[in-house]
Amino acid sequence: MAEARVRGAFYALAGGPPAFKGAAEARYEALAVGREVRGVYVVPEAVFDRPGPWGAAVEAVGPDGRTAWTNLGFAVLERHLAPGLGAPAPAVASPTADSAGGLGAVCTHEPPCDLHRVSVAGALGALCELDKLEQAQGMGQDRSRSPGKQPPEGL
Ligand SMILES: [Zn+2]
Repeated sequence: MAEARVRGAFYALAGGPPAFKGAAEARYEALAVGREVRGVYVVPEAVFDRPGPWGAAVEAVGPDGRTAWTNLGFAVLERHLAPGLGAPAPAVASPTADSAGGLGAVCTHEPPCDLHRVSVAGALGALCELDKLEQAQGMGQDRSRSPGKQPPEGL
Protein backbone atom coordinates (compact mmCIF):
# COMPACT_ATOMS: atom_id res chain seq x y z
CA MET A 1 0.00 0.00 0.00
CA ALA A 2 1.72 3.17 -1.18
CA GLU A 3 -0.65 5.66 0.42
CA ALA A 4 -0.04 4.93 4.11
CA ARG A 5 1.77 7.31 6.44
CA VAL A 6 4.42 5.25 8.19
CA ARG A 7 6.55 6.39 11.09
CA GLY A 8 9.16 4.51 13.09
CA ALA A 9 10.53 5.19 16.57
CA PHE A 10 13.78 3.57 17.66
CA TYR A 11 14.80 2.41 21.12
CA ALA A 12 18.06 1.09 22.55
CA LEU A 13 17.15 -1.89 24.71
CA ALA A 14 20.45 -2.74 26.41
CA GLY A 15 20.94 -1.94 30.07
CA GLY A 16 17.60 -1.02 31.56
CA PRO A 17 14.31 0.33 30.25
CA PRO A 18 14.00 1.10 26.52
CA ALA A 19 15.77 4.38 25.74
CA PHE A 20 14.06 6.42 23.00
CA LYS A 21 16.69 7.39 20.42
CA GLY A 22 14.71 9.04 17.66
CA ALA A 23 11.80 8.80 15.26
CA ALA A 24 11.44 9.34 11.56
CA GLU A 25 8.85 9.34 8.84
CA ALA A 26 9.30 6.54 6.30
CA ARG A 27 8.92 7.11 2.58
CA TYR A 28 7.47 4.60 0.14
CA GLU A 29 9.83 3.07 -2.43
CA ALA A 30 8.16 1.14 -5.25
CA LEU A 31 9.94 -2.02 -6.32
CA ALA A 32 9.26 -3.99 -9.46
CA VAL A 33 9.19 -7.71 -8.64
CA GLY A 34 8.93 -9.31 -12.05
CA ARG A 35 5.87 -7.63 -13.58
CA GLU A 36 4.36 -6.93 -10.19
CA VAL A 37 5.06 -3.61 -8.51
CA ARG A 38 5.36 -3.80 -4.77
CA GLY A 39 7.13 -1.55 -2.37
CA VAL A 40 8.77 -1.01 0.95
CA TYR A 41 8.73 1.83 3.42
CA VAL A 42 12.21 3.18 4.09
CA VAL A 43 13.33 5.38 6.96
CA PRO A 44 15.84 7.69 5.24
CA GLU A 45 18.23 7.82 8.18
CA ALA A 46 18.43 6.35 11.64
CA VAL A 47 21.41 6.58 13.97
CA PHE A 48 22.20 3.49 16.04
CA ASP A 49 24.86 4.87 18.34
CA ARG A 50 25.69 1.67 20.18
CA PRO A 51 25.78 -2.04 19.42
CA GLY A 52 23.33 -4.35 21.12
CA PRO A 53 19.62 -5.06 21.12
CA TRP A 54 17.37 -2.37 19.65
CA GLY A 55 13.66 -2.11 19.05
CA ALA A 56 11.45 -0.20 16.68
CA ALA A 57 7.83 0.81 17.13
CA VAL A 58 6.14 1.31 13.78
CA GLU A 59 2.87 3.13 13.18
CA ALA A 60 1.06 3.04 9.86
CA VAL A 61 -1.96 5.22 9.11
CA GLY A 62 -3.92 4.19 6.04
CA PRO A 63 -5.71 6.58 3.67
CA ASP A 64 -8.97 5.79 5.48
CA GLY A 65 -7.44 6.86 8.79
CA ARG A 66 -7.21 3.35 10.19
CA THR A 67 -4.02 2.89 12.18
CA ALA A 68 -1.91 -0.19 12.79
CA TRP A 69 1.11 -0.64 15.04
CA THR A 70 3.81 -3.20 15.32
CA ASN A 71 7.02 -3.62 17.27
CA LEU A 72 10.12 -5.37 16.14
CA GLY A 73 13.47 -6.18 17.63
CA PHE A 74 16.84 -6.38 15.98
CA ALA A 75 20.53 -6.45 16.86
CA VAL A 76 22.91 -3.64 16.00
CA LEU A 77 26.34 -5.14 15.44
CA GLU A 78 29.73 -3.58 16.13
CA ARG A 79 30.76 -4.26 12.51
CA HIS A 80 28.99 -5.14 9.27
CA LEU A 81 28.68 -8.84 8.54
CA ALA A 82 28.68 -8.01 4.83
CA PRO A 83 31.20 -5.69 3.14
CA GLY A 84 30.20 -2.06 3.58
CA LEU A 85 29.80 0.51 0.84
CA GLY A 86 33.18 1.01 -0.85
CA ALA A 87 34.81 -1.91 0.98
CA PRO A 88 36.83 -4.36 -1.10
CA ALA A 89 34.97 -7.42 -2.32
CA PRO A 90 35.91 -10.56 -0.37
CA ALA A 91 38.22 -12.85 -2.31
CA VAL A 92 36.14 -16.02 -2.22
CA ALA A 93 37.40 -19.27 -3.68
CA SER A 94 34.04 -19.79 -5.37
CA PRO A 95 33.49 -23.05 -7.26
CA THR A 96 34.30 -23.07 -10.95
CA ALA A 97 33.61 -25.38 -13.88
CA ASP A 98 36.81 -27.25 -12.87
CA SER A 99 35.60 -27.93 -9.32
CA ALA A 100 34.26 -31.29 -8.21
CA GLY A 101 30.84 -31.79 -9.80
CA GLY A 102 31.79 -29.75 -12.85
CA LEU A 103 29.85 -26.95 -14.51
CA GLY A 104 26.48 -28.56 -13.79
CA ALA A 105 27.10 -28.18 -10.05
CA VAL A 106 27.74 -24.42 -10.23
CA CYS A 107 25.39 -23.22 -12.97
CA THR A 108 21.64 -23.60 -13.27
CA HIS A 109 21.40 -22.10 -16.77
CA GLU A 110 20.40 -24.39 -19.60
CA PRO A 111 22.68 -24.53 -21.52
CA PRO A 112 25.29 -23.64 -18.85
CA CYS A 113 26.60 -20.09 -19.11
CA ASP A 114 30.21 -19.11 -19.60
CA LEU A 115 30.76 -17.29 -16.29
CA HIS A 116 32.37 -20.01 -14.19
CA ARG A 117 35.88 -20.41 -15.56
CA VAL A 118 37.57 -18.47 -12.75
CA SER A 119 36.72 -18.07 -9.08
CA VAL A 120 35.86 -14.70 -7.55
CA ALA A 121 39.29 -14.74 -5.87
CA GLY A 122 40.98 -15.46 -9.20
CA ALA A 123 39.13 -12.64 -10.94
CA LEU A 124 39.96 -10.15 -8.16
CA GLY A 125 43.60 -11.21 -8.35
CA ALA A 126 43.59 -10.57 -12.09
CA LEU A 127 42.09 -7.11 -11.55
CA CYS A 128 44.80 -6.32 -8.96
CA GLU A 129 47.50 -7.38 -11.42
CA LEU A 130 45.91 -5.19 -14.09
CA ASP A 131 45.92 -2.20 -11.69
CA LYS A 132 49.60 -2.79 -10.80
CA LEU A 133 50.51 -3.03 -14.47
CA GLU A 134 48.68 0.22 -15.27
CA GLN A 135 50.28 2.04 -12.35
CA ALA A 136 53.72 0.81 -13.41
CA GLN A 137 53.02 2.20 -16.88
CA GLY A 138 51.61 5.46 -15.53
CA MET A 139 48.20 4.61 -16.86
CA GLY A 140 46.33 4.42 -13.56
CA GLN A 141 42.73 5.39 -14.15
CA ASP A 142 39.54 5.62 -12.24
CA ARG A 143 37.92 2.31 -13.15
CA SER A 144 34.43 3.77 -12.73
CA ARG A 145 35.10 6.23 -15.58
CA SER A 146 36.68 3.67 -17.84
CA PRO A 147 33.89 1.95 -19.72
CA GLY A 148 36.37 0.21 -22.03
CA LYS A 149 37.95 -1.78 -19.23
CA GLN A 150 36.08 -4.90 -18.28
CA PRO A 151 36.72 -7.66 -15.76
CA PRO A 152 38.78 -10.50 -17.18
CA GLU A 153 36.97 -12.82 -19.51
CA GLY A 154 35.34 -15.63 -17.62
CA LEU A 155 34.23 -13.68 -14.58
ZN1 LIG B 1 26.05 -19.90 -14.84
